[in-house]
Amino acid sequence: MMKRIAILGSTGSIGKQTLEVIANHPEDFAVEVLTAKSNFKLLIEQASRFHPKFVVISDLAHLDTLQKALSGQPITVLGGQDALNEVVTEKNVDMVLAAMVGFSGLIPVIHAIKAGKQIALANKETLVVAGELITRLAHENKVDLLPVDSEHSAIFQCLMGEQHAEVEKVYITASGGPFRKFDISALQAVTRHEALKHPTWSMGAKITIDSATLMNKGLEVIEARWLFNLKPEQIDVIVHPQSIVHSLVQFCDGSIKAQLGLPDMRLPILYAMSYPKRLNGLFPRFNFTDYPHLTFEAPDSNRFPNLAIALEAMRKGGNMPCIMNAANEVAVEAFLTDRVGFYGITQIIEKTLRQATFLPAAGLSEYIESDREARSIALSFVK
Ligand code: NDP
Ligand code: MG
Repeated sequence: MMKRIAILGSTGSIGKQTLEVIANHPEDFAVEVLTAKSNFKLLIEQASRFHPKFVVISDLAHLDTLQKALSGQPITVLGGQDALNEVVTEKNVDMVLAAMVGFSGLIPVIHAIKAGKQIALANKETLVVAGELITRLAHENKVDLLPVDSEHSAIFQCLMGEQHAEVEKVYITASGGPFRKFDISALQAVTRHEALKHPTWSMGAKITIDSATLMNKGLEVIEARWLFNLKPEQIDVIVHPQSIVHSLVQFCDGSIKAQLGLPDMRLPILYAMSYPKRLNGLFPRFNFTDYPHLTFEAPDSNRFPNLAIALEAMRKGGNMPCIMNAANEVAVEAFLTDRVGFYGITQIIEKTLRQATFLPAAGLSEYIESDREARSIALSFVK
């Protein structure tokens, strides 16, 4: 049966790769909704090619242009953040692929879950901010949260046919990013251009910086905790620079299952969309002799303190991960605009975590308020 997909963030790295996957499987998937923040040019191209029923641009400044450009086509064009919350609930939408970046994905995903839509989740910040709430809502509404993040797709695949109680440990692999071998003084001097050159993955700017600081791995540990209902101490991070082993699960008898493949996001995207089936992947296959050495090492939290900060926020729980996420979003944006250095990111997060109001338990309105408060505190530390 044809699945009709709403792509939140279709103009981004994951969004564009999702459209490639859909183009390769026209009998299995159709595009129902496309959305972007401000890249109206690409959105017009995508809409003209994939014929969605709805197109949404969050930044209202471009709504008029978009409406005019698509006026000859049977497409409803909407603008503003609230329109996202409406389109995800449209009756023809079977699955929402959440590929917006940061906190912005949270509320549309909640609307989609409440409308009973299947969720293919790339937007990990949604689970970092509100993992308890999101997983509870998904359970109540009988909605699958299907991971798109490659590590979580790997874990999800390793868990197929297994019993939850028999899982002992999950190992999340990390490439180590472009600065894996840099010492502290070299790290102090890195530029955003160097940080944006990821050795194995090509991704949007925010996650690429998160990968360079290892914050991405911290976010992924929290994401795994909620997706797979794990205790914090059941999750370990291991650096694997070749990005071939995407993650591993160890069971109570000591057996370990891993999922391998070339670093290509189209594979986890396809699996999340086709689940529980597998469809033919039209991308290059892994060749063992091209990779005679697959190596593994421990992450270094002295040089990359953001990973340890994230793990500590997870252990504290409540709104701590939400505060940390907001501070990180502000700090990464400041790094990307040359207003702070590499370790400036860490300092902003640490100071924000100390000042923001800690709530041991939180619901949606508290998360929204914590995000707002943390952003404003974090911004006060940016030059
Ligand atoms: P990009 O920055 O490449 O794309 C983000 C998309 O979301 C764009 O379409 C952008 O629109 C839109 N967007 C951004 N902010 C808003 C907003 N406030 N309101 C509405 N739309 C918005 O990001 P990626 O594709 O790299 O990442 C998307 C998510 O997937 C992130 O959460 C990331 O952590 C996760 N992820 C990404 C991976 C990757 O390989 N890229 C791997 C695993 C997870 P516009 O183009 O107009 O700015
Ligand atoms: Mg990942």
